[in-house]
Amino acid sequence: MAKQILNTIQSLKSKPHYAHEENVYLPGAVIFAEGDARDHAYIVEDGAVEITIMKDGAPVTVAKLGPGEIFGETALMERGGTRSATATATAETRVFVITRDLIMERVTGLDPLIGLLMSLLIDRYKRSRALESGVSADGEDPKEHVSEKMEAFLEHWAVQKESALKELQMAREIKEAIAAKQFVPHIQPIVTIPGRKLEGFEALVRWEHPEKGMIPPFEFVPVAERTNVVRELDLMMLRRVCEHLPGLRETAGHDLFVSVNLSGTHFTNHNVVDVVREILDEHKVDPASIKLEITESALVTEPELAIDILRDLKRIGVSIALDDFGTGYSSLSYLHKFSIDTIKVDRSFVRQVDADKRGLDIVRAIVGLARTFDLGIIAEGIENENEIGALTGAGCEAGQGYFFGKPMPVADAAAWIAENARLAG
Ligand code: C2E
Ligand code: CA
Ligand code: CA
Repeated sequence: MAKQILNTIQSLKSKPHYAHEENVYLPGAVIFAEGDARDHAYIVEDGAVEITIMKDGAPVTVAKLGPGEIFGETALMERGGTRSATATATAETRVFVITRDLIMERVTGLDPLIGLLMSLLIDRYKRSRALESGVSADGEDPKEHVSEKMEAFLEHWAVQKESALKELQMAREIKEAIAAKQFVPHIQPIVTIPGRKLEGFEALVRWEHPEKGMIPPFEFVPVAERTNVVRELDLMMLRRVCEHLPGLRETAGHDLFVSVNLSGTHFTNHNVVDVVREILDEHKVDPASIKLEITESALVTEPELAIDILRDLKRIGVSIALDDFGTGYSSLSYLHKFSIDTIKVDRSFVRQVDADKRGLDIVRAIVGLARTFDLGIIAEGIENENEIGALTGAGCEAGQGYFFGKPMPVADAAAWIAENARLAG
């Protein structure tokens, strides 16, 4: 744990954005004394710190701290006030100063559940302190000490608390909606370019809410991801896709694949391999007709585990596409480490191919990379013929986008297939 904390400090310091204060104290130096104004906390980086309080006129040691430990943290939890103990370096000691400003910067964009936990823990801390001292937690609230920033900070936490509760409610609603079969796949065609021969479809989830109408994924997928409900959602999509596959294939009159999006949270547990296998077995679906789309970020949390999981998924016989390529933690090193079949070029690059040359250069580079590693390429979000021309010129052989077809209910696929065959000539 201490090591983790020190690593975090290192990473904080390497970000110029988080201006930090670093202080070194010689043995015997007082870091703060009882009665000093209380305005920030410290983490010991190296060395040793002793915390003492005065009892009957003599100092009594209440804690001896080493690297990775925190002290003076009440400054972050209570407004204003003064130090109730003295902190002294007992060896040459370097401390990392946590100012409220630093916390303010970090707290913005905090996961709401973490925000909720923090605010609950702080509330509890304050209450137990109040019980101990017999003073109401806010009773010692000398207005002149209350920094405006701290007010904003506490207010922000209150908002976080509310949004965390809303999020937990939404997670429950999502679960209920899965059970009530309110989630349905829409499918978007993936075709060869420029010939527009149908290769397969990507399944994209839609929430058909009985009161709110159709809810797009950006309104619930992020919540589902943070609360882990997304695993159920993805597996449900895989089941639906397996049910529709034979029909789609028959309508098309040839083999095709369907892509299913898998959230990164599946890649922290090997269990996903068995579950995917069971679903395919149960529906007697040829694994070769299923492509699983994962994003780069799914692979960075626990790369070793992700390597294992991908390899075992490939052993089942499904293929793997790397979604939104170029937008995440693009590290070319994983392209050969991870078992990937296809790269999906993100729409942000496709959008730039005819407007500026740099976009096209990037797509060319990705195509070159794909060739080197023997991977397929699908360009996402194609909206016009100029883009098709530029992408084809760059060596990209397949694509999807509104130009060919928007995501549609499975029931509309037959009409789309007929129309597309006509356009393809
Ligand atoms: P994605 O996987 O990158 O999906 C492509 C998104 O681009 C889809 O948005 C699609 O409708 C949209 N799109 C396709 N062609 C065009 C185009 O020509 N122009 C523009 N502007 N957009 C286009 P959608 O359906 O709203 O899905 C958004 C995201 O939600 C997906 O991005 C994916 O990350 C997530 N998602 C969707 N379904 C699932 C699912 O079943 N499981 C998980 N884990 N995530 C899903
Ligand atoms: Ca996708
Ligand atoms: Ca994508």
